[in-house]
Amino acid sequence: MPVTAHQCRACRSAAGHVVLDLGSQPACDYFPASDDPGPDPVYPLQMWLCSRCGLAQLLDDPTVPEEPRGTEPAALVAQAADAVNRAATAGLLHAGARVAEYGSPHGGSWLSMLSDQGLRPVDGTAEADIILDCFGMMHAADQSAALAERTARLAPGGVLLLQYHSLNAIIRQGQWNALRHGHYAYYSTTALSAMLTAVGFRPRAAWRFDLYGGTVLLAATRDSDDIVTSDHAVTGAPDAMVPALLAAEARTGVRDPDVLRGLQRDVRARATALHDWLAESAAAGKAVLGYGAASRAVALLAKAGIDEDMLPAVADASPAKRGRRMPGTAIPVISPAELIARHPDEVALFVPDLMAEARAAYPEIEAGGGCWVDADALRPA
Ligand SMILES: [Zn+2]
Repeated sequence: MPVTAHQCRACRSAAGHVVLDLGSQPACDYFPASDDPGPDPVYPLQMWLCSRCGLAQLLDDPTVPEEPRGTEPAALVAQAADAVNRAATAGLLHAGARVAEYGSPHGGSWLSMLSDQGLRPVDGTAEADIILDCFGMMHAADQSAALAERTARLAPGGVLLLQYHSLNAIIRQGQWNALRHGHYAYYSTTALSAMLTAVGFRPRAAWRFDLYGGTVLLAATRDSDDIVTSDHAVTGAPDAMVPALLAAEARTGVRDPDVLRGLQRDVRARATALHDWLAESAAAGKAVLGYGAASRAVALLAKAGIDEDMLPAVADASPAKRGRRMPGTAIPVISPAELIARHPDEVALFVPDLMAEARAAYPEIEAGGGCWVDADALRPA
């Protein structure tokens, strides 16, 4: 199994293991036009765990990202506000400080909120006192180069803020379909700490959020710098959350290939469960539609072998996805208005984080006797 020419995207070690193999998958970034008959090209999709630094990563990525930008979910915006407030309360966001942001291609900039805190955004390659990376670095094929680029721009005494979907959450919640083309790294705090150590940095503070079932914002500084906290005390020690996260990850076993291979069992369990649920609903004469044309849904539908006959449409708020279909299937993407007009008995929500948001945005579904169902847990709202 470990016999591949792959080198770790962070530490360049060739020692590692394929821990999750989703087989050949359509590119989840590319939503073909509905009249494009396919078949859509498919590409191998595998997660590899580095034995040396512990970074979980995409093994190979032959696809070209081409994702119609989705609408920014309110949950993402609310988490950003929460994170900015917590970093500000910790005294990390000084008025007048220069800030550079490495954002995600999927949107979600914090810059306007940071400007409201009195920080000054800088462009290009200019030096900055705060370097913020919010779901950005995971999109870099060369992880060590991406981290080096960010740390090189950091002014003396500056703070690097990295936000990521936690590998610990992916493992503990069986989120195997977080694995997708274009996302090259799946960070544990453990692996990211090793990457930071390699460039002379260390984690100093962390905050945990419920977004995506477990998101972490990590503050790191150069080894030689002390961090100035809100009470202006200078401390060399990390806050309590960093060791707590590391301890939790050690209990999970985020560096253990056998632990990560558990995700492979979750694939079969979730795919079978979704297929059986849709079959039962059909047998009971229920009309089921989907909501959330997200990348996570693409892999789940592919592994479950679901097509238009079992799921006639998936609605999405993003106008960019209208007139298109789910990759690898004939399932059309429809508007929320059409979803409501079709009076579904059940709506399978492929982005369960958005349950509260979706129910509030489209009360017509429940008012019409329909029911929202978490497509991961297959539990009604
Ligand atoms: Zn490595």
